[in-house]
Amino acid sequence: MSASSQIPVPAHTLAESMLSRRFGRETANYFSSSPINRLSFLRGDHPFLSSALKHPSTQFVVLNNLAPLTRSPAELYYAKYEELRKLIPQDFFDQSEEELIKAYDSRKTYPSLIFLGLDESRKEENAFAHKIYSGAPCFAVDVTPKGSEEQQSAAKDIISEMESKGLSFFQTRIVTTFTPDEAAIYAQARALTDWNNRNTFCGTCGNPTLSVNAGTKRTCPPTDAARVATGQPIERPACTTRTTLSNLCFPRTDPTIIVAVVSADGKRVLLGRSKRFPPNWYSTLAGFIEPAESIEDAVRREVWEEAGVTLSRVVIHSSQPWPYPANLMIGAIAQVADPAHEKINLEHDPELEDAKWFEVEEVEEALRIGTSDLSSGPGPEYKGGLKLPPPTAIANQLIRAAISKDYFHYEEKTSKM
Ligand SMILES: [Zn+2]
Repeated sequence: MSASSQIPVPAHTLAESMLSRRFGRETANYFSSSPINRLSFLRGDHPFLSSALKHPSTQFVVLNNLAPLTRSPAELYYAKYEELRKLIPQDFFDQSEEELIKAYDSRKTYPSLIFLGLDESRKEENAFAHKIYSGAPCFAVDVTPKGSEEQQSAAKDIISEMESKGLSFFQTRIVTTFTPDEAAIYAQARALTDWNNRNTFCGTCGNPTLSVNAGTKRTCPPTDAARVATGQPIERPACTTRTTLSNLCFPRTDPTIIVAVVSADGKRVLLGRSKRFPPNWYSTLAGFIEPAESIEDAVRREVWEEAGVTLSRVVIHSSQPWPYPANLMIGAIAQVADPAHEKINLEHDPELEDAKWFEVEEVEEALRIGTSDLSSGPGPEYKGGLKLPPPTAIANQLIRAAISKDYFHYEEKTSKM
């Protein structure tokens, strides 16, 4: 696979506009730019979800302990409803959301079924259509054996049936082998499944929650039929999540900054490495954005804390959803204004084992022949020296941009307008 085919190229990134002439082409990173139209406004519409669940074109991304079901490490397997019917009852969405909340009984367990949206890249002749929207409905199903005994045995049966077809649950720390479209679909399925699994109890009152909105929200129901069985009133104790407008728990996204830092003269790039990286492998600096901090503040703080370098201008370049478990990597390019601010000091925060300024020429060569993910090595052309993350990582795209003349000399380009 060539470097460019590993990241998405949606039409808008190539389209000419005043903004694209001023700021350059937009970078769409791996795990973003899904072919799925999420149709978030239809997630509470159970008649819509019910017909989507039963349509013959509907495809299911199947996860077992978050590992995706695949034909090969490079290809996601989309299951059909028939293959999952033991676990997912056909009437899953036949009751309205309101009725489901009213009938809540914490003794019952439900399989995790999440509506991801309509895959608009699959508009076959008999595609599913609802009003003006059409495509293949896409759901994520968690087949990790859990819940009631019946559910556990259904999940185990599905796992062994899938494996007997030669399919397997792809065990890897970070997926980098799927096509950009499938990577984005998997990212959405993984992030939402993981969030549902981690939020089965209300963060305010501690009682169990119920998944609603097709798996994209969780609610703390006001009643629980299980209480009656123990002689308590059906109403649960008051929970402040029910008295306000936001009586729901929403999936979280944790913003993280990641930055390629350029020296004052524009000829060197600051990279760092942690102890867990393979030898010679360096990357851009990164860290979580803290409460009450702007993206630019977080970039300047992280780079100073980890490397002792003081930054001036910070420009946001692109972003990358990172479903491990719920990050949004906000990629920036930043520059030091004064050579005196380039001095590296690793003594503030011991997070990095090393940080170094690399000449642009060395970085260019590493981008050409020395990239690999953390678990594999670079290609046969690699002759030693600097190793960098692969194109599927936003770090790679940021480093590319930071050493690109196009990025730093837009004035020359715009003068031709
Ligand atoms: Zn609650």
